[in-house]
Amino acid sequence: MNTIELADQSLCTGCGACAARCPKHCISMRENAVGIVLPVIDTTACIGCHTCEKACPILKTPEPHKPSEAYAAWSSDGAERVTSASGGVAIEMYKHAVANGYAAVGASQNDDFSVTHKLVTSADGLGQFKNSKYVFSDAYDAFADIKKALRESRKVIFIGLPCQVAALRKLFRDDSLLLVDLVCHGTTPLSYLRQHIGMLSRQAGKVAKRMSFRDPAHDTCKFTLTLYDIRGKFYAKRTKDGDTYQFGYHRAVSYRENCYHCRFACAERQGDITIADYHGLGLCAPAFFSSRKVSLVLINTGKGKAFVEELVSGGRVHVEPRPLEEPFKGEPQLRHPSVKSKYRMAFEKEIVRHGGDFEQAIKRLQRKYMAQMRIVGVVSLPKKILRKVKKTIIG
Ligand SMILES: Cc1cc2nc3c(=O)[nH]c(=O)nc-3n(C[C@H](O)[C@H](O)[C@H](O)COP(=O)(O)OP(=O)(O)OC[C@H]3O[C@@H](n4cnc5c(N)ncnc54)[C@H](O)[C@@H]3O)c2cc1C
Ligand code: SF4
Ligand code: SF4
Ligand code: SF4
Repeated sequence: MNTIELADQSLCTGCGACAARCPKHCISMRENAVGIVLPVIDTTACIGCHTCEKACPILKTPEPHKPSEAYAAWSSDGAERVTSASGGVAIEMYKHAVANGYAAVGASQNDDFSVTHKLVTSADGLGQFKNSKYVFSDAYDAFADIKKALRESRKVIFIGLPCQVAALRKLFRDDSLLLVDLVCHGTTPLSYLRQHIGMLSRQAGKVAKRMSFRDPAHDTCKFTLTLYDIRGKFYAKRTKDGDTYQFGYHRAVSYRENCYHCRFACAERQGDITIADYHGLGLCAPAFFSSRKVSLVLINTGKGKAFVEELVSGGRVHVEPRPLEEPFKGEPQLRHPSVKSKYRMAFEKEIVRHGGDFEQAIKRLQRKYMAQMRIVGVVSLPKKILRKVKKTIIG
């Protein structure tokens, strides 16, 4: 039998397209020693047909789309906007789609804190998709549901990460599938999140029932991670850098290796539409509205354009046209993947040394980072004072 060569482990996104396509079901998606989900082939059952290789979006990446228009956008429904990560555009897309007979697919957090993509067909089920879950999500079960919906001649909207959208483009060549990708800086393995929740819960003597990465109760723009117990009482609240998980996530220290080589973190996109937090608003033209809770919408295909026009004409979403170059100036992930810092390099060694123990691997690095930030603050203080004095004297 010929050797089967899937994507290199340092590039594999864990999308599962190879497993979904295997006619012998002999590929399973499994966690490795440090918690990263990768495909494993049962060579005893493999017939050497190479179908898995053909499905892989890394071995052959679908031709990307060039964005043609950029908008600052937000939901016309104030409550949806407050409880979404940024402008609440995603939930309005889902609501419009379901009202028009689409099946909607999005990321939902389960009771065990894993995140999976699910397919729903009624408006009641859409709330679970709202807000960002900053952890690896799997869309494996959704592939079969999407296939079924498309076979039944149903339209489907999928919102997810660009690597997942690329996988769907390899799996389904169907015009009834509307694909929306998020701008993405990386995902952290689920095992790190579970360990972190365990640690915070032990410290508080509680059992976690629910969590939020950008809790609306503390303003989603502040990226506050919170944990709630079985009675719905909140018992842990962690800020952006004051927490090992958040430090690992927001400072690009603890992602899957492939995220540092991501070929989807660029200007050309996999989705018909791209959405993100609007970074860099006002860089290329004045913006006469608040930059708080505003999403970016990029139109990448004719199908995407028609869908956004429906959203706007139906009054669900308010849009403000922006210069096309502006979001590309403001958002690094639209230019290049997350960059490996010295903290990341150290983490790579530490996580192996500690056998996948996330807290042990990252604790010292986070403390070092915080100490460095304090030094930077003190060192830059005289400069800040000098600038203020100069401004007062010179005007
Ligand atoms: C892992 C991740 C990284 C991101 N990185 C950036 C970034 O670097 N820059 C930036 O501007 N924006 C980033 N975003 C997007 C941003 O957080 C918002 O999701 C986006 O602005 C849309 O906001 P919204 O208010 O319209 O909708 P929201 O309610 O926030 O959007 C929810 C949508 O996000 C999807 N989703 C949530 N979690 C996941 C997940 N783990 N995997 C796949 N899909 C998920 C849901 O399916 C749903 O469709 C990221 C999102 C995620 C999930
Ligand atoms: S070569 Fe064919 S049978 Fe073997 S793992 Fe790939 S898809 Fe499955
Ligand atoms: S199809 Fe996805 S999971 Fe399979 S090897 Fe390629 S990138 Fe990895
Ligand atoms: S950075 Fe790229 S590879 Fe990593 S999760 Fe995001 S889209 Fe996927």
